[in-house]
Amino acid sequence: MKIYDVAVIGAGPAGMTAAIYACRAGKSVALFEKNFPGGQMVNAHIIDNYPAEDCISGFDLAQKMFEQVAAAGADFINEEVTAITSGGDITLTTPSNSYRAKTAVLATGTERLRLGISGEDRLDGRGVSWCATCDGAFYRGKDVAVIGGGNSAVSEALYLSAICKSVHIIHRRDSYRAEVSLAEKLRATKNITEHLECVPVEITGEDKVSGVILDKKGEKFTLAVDGVFVAIGGRPEQKLIAGVEKDGAGYIKTDNEMRTSLPCVFAAGDNISKQVRQIVTACSDGAIAALSAASSD
Ligand SMILES: Cc1cc2nc3c(=O)[nH]c(=O)nc-3n(C[C@H](O)[C@H](O)[C@H](O)COP(=O)(O)OP(=O)(O)OC[C@H]3O[C@@H](n4cnc5c(N)ncnc54)[C@H](O)[C@@H]3O)c2cc1C
Repeated sequence: MKIYDVAVIGAGPAGMTAAIYACRAGKSVALFEKNFPGGQMVNAHIIDNYPAEDCISGFDLAQKMFEQVAAAGADFINEEVTAITSGGDITLTTPSNSYRAKTAVLATGTERLRLGISGEDRLDGRGVSWCATCDGAFYRGKDVAVIGGGNSAVSEALYLSAICKSVHIIHRRDSYRAEVSLAEKLRATKNITEHLECVPVEITGEDKVSGVILDKKGEKFTLAVDGVFVAIGGRPEQKLIAGVEKDGAGYIKTDNEMRTSLPCVFAAGDNISKQVRQIVTACSDGAIAALSAASSD
């Protein structure tokens, strides 16, 4: 069985950058991806904070990165890694195969968090969505709500405002976590209504969404909407990374070289314990992880 120098798990910006850097360091590289390349950025309508690309869609940026990965010479393996074992060579198990590598980079990103309120699961795909770019067109001329207060929620609200009749943004705090420039754009958009300090308690509707019930400081009221977009952030999927040391919120602890607590296992991107989760920081982590892996195989 071929033993790769570096196995990268996850083809988001962190993993694709790690693959490019490891290839350029002369290493044999396997890049595993369970879906399609790009990670979360493919859900972004416009990326306007990535250097040299001031107005590119997330999909196009992902495509460009993936072309660079292919040109660099990484083997792209479109399978989900379900287990890794370390100690000597690393074994990576997928549903149909097993692979070996000298080092691994965990670039598995995060999974979208759910609200955990009544109606969310039952109406999933019938008005409840986690991706405005994917599903926004279904709500042309309709009324929708976006739940969340970070960059993703504000970006999604802005994107939907160009398609929908009205957009309600619902956030439990009194100010957004999103970048100031995005929040300013949001406030300047006429068909977006803010509902700050409001907690969603139920999504209503029989066969499809009809509204969302909010609790504002103990007083409940219903917003009539046709769609609810949930954008409250993510958390790393825990099963694959069970063996590595994590912080209290479930993010992988790394040192400055992106080493995890397991020998020859590195981590990069949104799944590590850090302050800023963006494409540019994911790429930076990926580059460091790959060069650390390349010098330790
Ligand atoms: C709607 C939205 C808009 C955004 N807009 C911007 C923006 O404008 N600018 C910006 O800088 N950032 C933006 N972000 C954030 C940015 O997309 C993330 O910070 C970045 O994608 C993180 O990269 P990553 O590679 O760490 O993880 P991810 O992008 O999450 O990629 C992880 C990849 O790993 C794969 N994977 C996971 N587990 C496995 C496994 N076991 N086996 C195989 N594959 C696996 C996943 O399928 C995924 O493709 C946005 C995010 C969202 C959701």
